[in-house]
Amino acid sequence: MRIAGQCHCGNIAFTLDWRPEPEEIPARACTCSFCTSHGGVWTACPGGVLRISQRERQHVSNYEFGTKTAQFHVCAICGVVPVATSRIDGRLYAVVNVNTFRNVPAEMLRRAPVTFDEEAESERLARRQRNWIGDVVFV
Ligand SMILES: [Zn+2]
Repeated sequence: MRIAGQCHCGNIAFTLDWRPEPEEIPARACTCSFCTSHGGVWTACPGGVLRISQRERQHVSNYEFGTKTAQFHVCAICGVVPVATSRIDGRLYAVVNVNTFRNVPAEMLRRAPVTFDEEAESERLARRQRNWIGDVVFV
């Protein structure tokens, strides 16, 4: 399945080839303070291929907080956060915000809250390497 997503104004856009073909897509409402305030709901598939474009790079803010191991790509024009990335051992991993999907039927999304507050940093990075999209390129 090729998923297309973008921020509200289209400054940040992505395509995600979800492999293998999904029956449903997990949608994790992260309960951290940043995602709560943005309404961020994230998903990833480890075998996926993600291509991200930024029309006006100077209008993308890469926000970090806490352990500063992930970057939230915030559109500085419209304020939407379509993508978060994490560079681990030289490789870029990512999750995408299901609220920015353009072509996925709502009934495919399996929404559930999730919290990672208790997780140690090493556990967090290992989880991202297992679960996040592992083929990520800014084009
Ligand atoms: Zn935007």
